[in-house]
Amino acid sequence: MTTEVLTVNQLKKEAPVFGQLSFNDHEQIVFCQDKDTGLKAIIGVHNTILGPALGGTRMYDYKTEFDALNDVLRLSRGMTYKAAITGLNLGGGKAVIIGDPKKIKTPELMKRFGKFVHTLGGKYYTAEDVGMETSDMDTVREVTPYVTGISESKGGAGNPSPVTAYGVYMGMKAATKFAYGNDDLNGKKVLVQGIGHVGEELVRLTSKEGAKIVISDINQERLAEVSKKYGVDIYRGDNLYDETADIYAPCALGATVNDETINRLKVKVIAGAANNQLADEAMHGTLLQKKGIVYAPDFLINAGGIINVYAEIEGYGRDQINAKTENIYNTTLDILHKAKATNMTTNAAALSIAEDRIAAKKICSNFNIKK
Ligand code: NAD
Repeated sequence: MTTEVLTVNQLKKEAPVFGQLSFNDHEQIVFCQDKDTGLKAIIGVHNTILGPALGGTRMYDYKTEFDALNDVLRLSRGMTYKAAITGLNLGGGKAVIIGDPKKIKTPELMKRFGKFVHTLGGKYYTAEDVGMETSDMDTVREVTPYVTGISESKGGAGNPSPVTAYGVYMGMKAATKFAYGNDDLNGKKVLVQGIGHVGEELVRLTSKEGAKIVISDINQERLAEVSKKYGVDIYRGDNLYDETADIYAPCALGATVNDETINRLKVKVIAGAANNQLADEAMHGTLLQKKGIVYAPDFLINAGGIINVYAEIEGYGRDQINAKTENIYNTTLDILHKAKATNMTTNAAALSIAEDRIAAKKICSNFNIKK
């Protein structure tokens, strides 16, 4: 038998769906269209072995449909591992709606999207992500029960961002302990890139502990507001990646650790909220390891939000949410030690633990054993 290796361009042409690199063992992909409302959405269900797939809906003005497909597939895969490593009985899924939320988002479009979610019969639960508000989830709730992150006044868990920030803070402290021998952030210089819902709360938590915070964002008004509110410095240089600091906290976009930035970074720890921070998990994970930069895997430390919405399904209270989120500290520390002991990258070490949990559940299901 000959094994033919196809180039990416050949894959796009000859195997445009199952051959995509990001179509990594996905169970199901649903393409949704409604011309009346202008809805074009893709729901990616990566894995449901541990439970129903849960993941937010991102609305974004993607340059191409391929970019949207690639994004939803990368994100839904990440959700599988996030839930698995956090010990939640959830699978991984995600949805994207193509278009500028400021221009085309309407209650009708959101309801139509909700009806598509409903057709999956609970295999996929949606939630809030970039371009979505809690009120949009309330609208989706009008047509399907398979939605989380609805308003607290409507019985939901509300905005997940403060819980996400708390988890990132826990992961950051654990990585600091691993790198410096203690987890005190007092006096540590932290670069927070992106001071939106999560970034601002992270600034609040870390500045309260005495960290020297430097913030950066493309939104100048936010920079001025957050700088004044917490008394933190605004980054004034040309390239944030050239700044010497203790910790870099990416809280804006994914893939900021890439070929261009990796040799510039002058930090000891990377710990932030953004999903998919490593442009190429294997290559950039290894390069960080070689440079001696401690990377707290994103899908592990930004799991506070999913813990918060999971609470809605399980009926957890605030105490249980906080305890589970605080446990991110212990899990992060365990994984950093495991990675060191086994000479793996921290990302690979975290993935292997998540994969083991999924594999164990699969074996139990095959033999009908309850776990
Ligand atoms: P947000 O949209 O509220 O904030 C993002 C901020 O980043 C904005 O202030 C924006 O102006 C800024 N930004 C955009 N591009 C930038 C750039 N090139 N340089 C600097 N700043 C830039 O988003 P959020 O809810 O705070 O989430 C932040 C990140 O964390 C996202 O990647 C999101 O996917 C991830 N995340 C969020 C949650 C959550 O609970 N909100 C959970 C898990 C992961």
